[in-house]
Amino acid sequence: MKTHTRVCVIGGGVVGASVLYHLTKLGWSDVVLLERSELTSGSTWHAAGGFHTLNGDTNMCALQGYTIRLYKELEEITGMSCGLHHVGGITLADTPERFDMLKAERAKHRHMGLDTHIFGPDEVKKYAPITNTDGILGALYDPLDGHLDPSGTTHAYAKAARMGGAEIYLHTKVEETNQRPDGTWEVVTDKGTIIAEHIVNAGGLWAREVGAMAGVYTPLLPMEHQYIVTEDLPEIYERSEEHPHVMDPGGESYLRQEGRGLCIGFYEQPCKPWSVDGTPWGFGHELLPDNLDKIEASIEFAYSRFPILERAGVKTVIHGPFTFAPDGNPLVGPVPGKQGYWLACGVMAGFSQGGGVGLMLAQWMINGETERDVFAMDIARYGKWISPGYTVPKVIENYRNRFSVTYPNEELPVARPCQTTPMYDVFDGMNAVWGQQNGLEVVNYFALDGEERYETPSFRRSNAWDATAQEVMAVRTAVGINEVQNFGKFLVRGTGARAWLDRIMAGRIPQVGRLSLTPMLAPSGRLIGDFTVSCLADDEFQLTGSYGAQEFHHRWFLQHLESGISVDNISDLRTGFQIAGPNARKLLERVTRADVSGETFKFLDVKPMVVGLVDCLVQRVSYTGDLGYEIYTSAMSQRALWNALWDAGQDLGLRPFGMRAMMSLRLDKFFGGWLREFSPDYTAAETGLDRFISFKKNTDFIGRAAAEAERATPPARMLCAFEVATTDAEINGYEPVTVEDKVVGYCTSGGYSHFAEKSIAMALIPRQMAKNGLNAKIEILGEMCKATLITTPLFDADGARMRG
Ligand SMILES: Cc1cc2nc3c(=O)[nH]c(=O)nc-3n(C[C@H](O)[C@H](O)[C@H](O)COP(=O)(O)OP(=O)(O)OC[C@H]3O[C@@H](n4cnc5c(N)ncnc54)[C@H](O)[C@@H]3O)c2cc1C
Repeated sequence: MKTHTRVCVIGGGVVGASVLYHLTKLGWSDVVLLERSELTSGSTWHAAGGFHTLNGDTNMCALQGYTIRLYKELEEITGMSCGLHHVGGITLADTPERFDMLKAERAKHRHMGLDTHIFGPDEVKKYAPITNTDGILGALYDPLDGHLDPSGTTHAYAKAARMGGAEIYLHTKVEETNQRPDGTWEVVTDKGTIIAEHIVNAGGLWAREVGAMAGVYTPLLPMEHQYIVTEDLPEIYERSEEHPHVMDPGGESYLRQEGRGLCIGFYEQPCKPWSVDGTPWGFGHELLPDNLDKIEASIEFAYSRFPILERAGVKTVIHGPFTFAPDGNPLVGPVPGKQGYWLACGVMAGFSQGGGVGLMLAQWMINGETERDVFAMDIARYGKWISPGYTVPKVIENYRNRFSVTYPNEELPVARPCQTTPMYDVFDGMNAVWGQQNGLEVVNYFALDGEERYETPSFRRSNAWDATAQEVMAVRTAVGINEVQNFGKFLVRGTGARAWLDRIMAGRIPQVGRLSLTPMLAPSGRLIGDFTVSCLADDEFQLTGSYGAQEFHHRWFLQHLESGISVDNISDLRTGFQIAGPNARKLLERVTRADVSGETFKFLDVKPMVVGLVDCLVQRVSYTGDLGYEIYTSAMSQRALWNALWDAGQDLGLRPFGMRAMMSLRLDKFFGGWLREFSPDYTAAETGLDRFISFKKNTDFIGRAAAEAERATPPARMLCAFEVATTDAEINGYEPVTVEDKVVGYCTSGGYSHFAEKSIAMALIPRQMAKNGLNAKIEILGEMCKATLITTPLFDADGARMRG
């Protein structure tokens, strides 16, 4: 065994093998994989081997497409068989809502280049004749769906990796991982010790135990899962071609041909977690005892959907555990605060996602960034608040919802509330309808008197409509108040803080008492963040950005930290409110002795002030695009600040507003949002954030060369706003934009402007087409809606009110 290596991958399941292969593919050959037993000895060996592209997250969907296309490449490189059966698959819809979801997916696929189709019941019957189509409204067909041989595929990855220089040590159990003073890792195994620059935890069923060796909590839980293989069935083996896959979400089942019979698996409601407190090291190539009682109701349902099953004998039952993260997506990437420690675990669909996970991780390790936004699987999407207490019920909820319709406005109920601010009971008493962001309860809207405190999950306009409209109009005509807890906030301190920020941020760093907006770029020029930088003193700055991305951003800051600078995440320590609307200044005047007149306290000023009883930091800026102020204080003082503002604002029409109203208000000004318009998928010039880049500053900020190249040659696409002629459904993101029947771009987000009474889409389209008045069509739930490009903001187009 080697004594030193660049990368040590722990775990030889399909995921570890894929990571190892991709590291060699991208040029690192001094890499090893340690497997405590044989390859595939965790979940991998007993998987059903199905693969599909369908995933609610568009980037995950694209990576699943990559994974599936990779298998042919692997077979060619290695000469080995992955046992591929590209038989295609359909996902049935038995309710209008499920059909809406499939239509929305199909629309996304149109600009992703995936050749999926919507089928009617007759086509379903023709295509998958064993299906009883009673009650079926339609289906989504994907020709890429299929299945493979899990063991053959894992060994093909391993062979391809070995061909690229990797070494694999079987029967070598990792027992300790100790970080050395120089940041490298000592990996202690039962066969000796290896020093590695990087380690990758691909421990699958044992990822929790492997993580714990380094003090890393991996939020995942194994669940028991069962599928049944039937005896031979003439209706199957007499067919001239292999039967396709059929996903029946209504029956929570997936079905495919296996040999001369069928194989059907279930995501049953009475599901069971496995080994909640840890995976025994002695567990190996073994199955769990059959538990047909657990899937009895699912089997009954399957008999009605596929009547052939009722007389099919059972050949084998496969019952085994595999791991899930709370949201069902993988846990990948560098662990914040642990140099050289990477995760590639929590992969619940190793044969749909393993290739994409391996590619992204290898890019991240070798290039320092991935080619696309991978936040959906980034470990940094979970903050320090996550614990097994949250993970366990959330994973069970996710397993049960595996085949449920996922609505764009849906708020999942389990493990709530988890994190709350001091305002929780106050807003709850005001009929708040709660949402959750990064574990934190945030108000979506306040239910009107007499209305249910629950937003109906829907692809179409929901029952939040009237309340949201009233909250929006309160802001535009009087004054609204909303919590600013859900901003990520950082305090940057040190004598070199300004110089450091000048290097990290692409924009201008403001003088004392001022704030500025700035993009933060990766070396490739892609967006890593968009921040408000407030200069509190020459050596002290506050940064505000996305709350959900706080760990992601903090990790980036720490990776680029210089001595003498401190960057503290104060997201949950500094909280407060924003007030916005024409009466906002009057309200602030009533609660502070500071001079807040427009001449003294100008747009983009920041000042410490006493507001009511408490010390605050007040910034003259508002994401509503209106005259507004963000007022920050400590969590301990938040209630006192609220009391002062609330009491003073009653005769000014003060009304609390939630995130639904916020998202409508920002559209009036075509303001983008993080992970919608602004994400690592896009560059500053594509999204218009280049207007905040300071090319004048004399600093070689990260991403400068790429940004300058874009300035010389503008990128091909550009972010624009459209007014959309839709009657009952809004844009959610990734809907295709067509011009003269050709897909030319896609939406990043959208919604309804209650102020202008218009449906708005934000979309990326070819730059040369981006002219006011361009006529286009946007597909919403299968309907082609007329869309007109607009360039004038719907509210305060000249910024007079915002700056006044
Ligand atoms: C019944 C069933 C059906 C399934 N069907 C499908 C399907 O149709 N399609 C699909 O995509 N997925 C399916 N899955 C899920 C799939 O099996 C997993 O997504 C996949 O196997 C995860 O692979 P992995 O490499 O992350 O983990 P694992 O397969 O668990 O591999 C982890 C490896 O790490 C090794 N290891 C752990 N700790 C150490 C240590 N300390 N030192 C050295 N080595 C260590 C283990 O021995 C093991 O080999 C199914 C799962 C089950 C249970």
